[in-house]
Amino acid sequence: MTIELVNTDGRIWSSTHSGFVFHAFRRTEDGKPVALCRKNVRPRSFTTMYEEWSTAEFADGTHGGRCERCVAKLAEVAEVAEVAETSTPAGEDEPLPQAVQNAAPGDFVVLPDADTTGRVIVWRDREHAGVINDEGANMTRGRYAAWSPRAERRDGVVGFFATVDEAAAAIKALWPPRPARTTPTCRTRSHRPSWRVVVRRANYSAFNGGRRTPSPYSLLRCGDCGGAWRTKAAYVAETPDAT
Ligand SMILES: [Zn+2]
Ligand SMILES: [Zn+2]
Repeated sequence: MTIELVNTDGRIWSSTHSGFVFHAFRRTEDGKPVALCRKNVRPRSFTTMYEEWSTAEFADGTHGGRCERCVAKLAEVAEVAEVAETSTPAGEDEPLPQAVQNAAPGDFVVLPDADTTGRVIVWRDREHAGVINDEGANMTRGRYAAWSPRAERRDGVVGFFATVDEAAAAIKALWPPRPARTTPTCRTRSHRPSWRVVVRRANYSAFNGGRRTPSPYSLLRCGDCGGAWRTKAAYVAETPDAT
């Protein structure tokens, strides 16, 4: 089967919604663009909507650069001119790194990039929070260049750092703090005198516009540990209201 690239004048590169690396794109049988390296990698919709495919030169001029696997695939395509459909990975979504999948919402994961040597990716909520490029030991300004879509500078540069850790910390600082974990139920018996009923046998759900709705459950708070929980247990009747 012939590989049909999305463009024939060399403008076949695009970044994706979650990453800064530029991939080369071909068309599937139904005309959808997919990356040469992985079938589940799709171009930014901006690219497809406005036919804004990029040249290799442009891609190389960005912090994301070009995907090394796509570059290799493209060389194969040029060499063979025909590449069997089976030479691309079996079409299954390539899973995100395990640590990224396992991360709790809002947690950061810092991992070397599987596509590019010398690059580290900072992940958050299964997306790229930033990229760190090792520009070499002779960079006096700091060899690790950090880039993030949240950088104040329009070109996305966060800064240049002496270590990966410092670069990662600078990227993390650009993102809002992790959503507060729900406060736990107080399980300390000796705190019981400090328990108060905040909302007795009702709730204020966002689903009904925040109005008070009767409920068998009450919201309690512990004055000692700050725990908060909803319960319909019998002890609610003897627990005083919060003042
Ligand atoms: Zn690629
Ligand atoms: Zn407590």
